[in-house]
Amino acid sequence: MPGWEIIGEEERRAVNEVFDNGAVLFRQSFAGLRNNIYKVKDFEMAFAKYLGAGYAHAVTSGTSALKVALKALKVGPGDEVITQAHTYVATVEAILECGAMPVMTEVDWTLNMDPADLTCKITPRTKVIIPVHMCGVAARMDDIMAIAGQRNLAVLEDTAQACGGTYHGKPLGTIGAVGTFSFDHGKFLTTGEGGMVVTDKEALYLGARCYADHGHEDNPAFPRGEDTRSFPGFNYRMMELQGAIGLEQLKKLPGSLAKHRANKTALKQAIQAIPGQHLRFRDIPDPGGDTGDAVVFFLETPERAKRVARALQQKGIGFKNLPDALNWHYAGTWDHMLGKAEWLKGRTLEDCFKQSGEILRRAIALPIFYKMDEARIAAIAMELKMALAQA
Ligand SMILES: *Cc1c(COP(=O)(O)O)cnc(C)c1O
Repeated sequence: MPGWEIIGEEERRAVNEVFDNGAVLFRQSFAGLRNNIYKVKDFEMAFAKYLGAGYAHAVTSGTSALKVALKALKVGPGDEVITQAHTYVATVEAILECGAMPVMTEVDWTLNMDPADLTCKITPRTKVIIPVHMCGVAARMDDIMAIAGQRNLAVLEDTAQACGGTYHGKPLGTIGAVGTFSFDHGKFLTTGEGGMVVTDKEALYLGARCYADHGHEDNPAFPRGEDTRSFPGFNYRMMELQGAIGLEQLKKLPGSLAKHRANKTALKQAIQAIPGQHLRFRDIPDPGGDTGDAVVFFLETPERAKRVARALQQKGIGFKNLPDALNWHYAGTWDHMLGKAEWLKGRTLEDCFKQSGEILRRAIALPIFYKMDEARIAAIAMELKMALAQA
């Protein structure tokens, strides 16, 4: 799962390179001091190239990437933005930050957006659809893109948890109008804190870039102090040290993905080999594009999932959010953000997302690590075998 597992000398050297060349920590300007070192710019270009995207703009976090992308899509008060009931709170926070109304769909056995429910949730006020590729697995993008296309709605892919994943050969984050990424310390590629907005559309790129830099248009005809502007922005600029780390992490990404996929296959096979079990595994729309972030399976009831999880926890086995951090990843528990939403109409949040709650509460997600060896994989399968027998 996390890029922190593979932070090493390369990242340290890259950071030192910035200090050894004038220590300019700002992403632009100071040309006389920086010895032509532009780490954030280089990271953006390398990231765009890796994905085959036209443009990439680096920001301070995955959450700010979402907000910046929504601002570039001109989302504001009166608009509805649809996302899914299984995501991290950040997706909904970004929608609220823009003054728009978050609307959630149920998730299906992919643990991602249920296209059938998406159709039901669209209204004349819907402006953007945000599928979230949770735990390294693509949402059902063919269906979602078709539904959005029929109604001329923009799709923003929250790719925070699926950097490097693909869907039928296409990199996640490049299928919709815009994609966002997170580089926080728990993600596949980390810069400590950081995020990226990618798009093929120049207007969206420029909108994102200006918004993330106080409205600065970076007009080449003027020095920064006399730069032009058309609308107000905010500051979500990435700094040079993050760019330096990101460039090195990006070089390690293909090797990291290969290792995760191999480890995931091995763990899944070991679990499938447990005799007498008929575990249901997560539906994966395109298994070839999975990043190998986690193995997810479902128990017969939420109560049994809880018991099995508790038994595993006692043996020192952790989870990828399910079930231990369910409350941060399931909209049915987000009264603090959604308790006053007009679509609630007197119902409880849990009532609104029954299908998602039922599926998520039966799920156990075992995280995959880069440094998992065969012995560790065998040990996890053995503990799971005992937990299933006893719990
Ligand atoms: C991590 C995450 C984010 C937010 O990213 P930060 O960089 O931590 O702000 C957004 N969406 C999802 C699905 C995430 O997992």
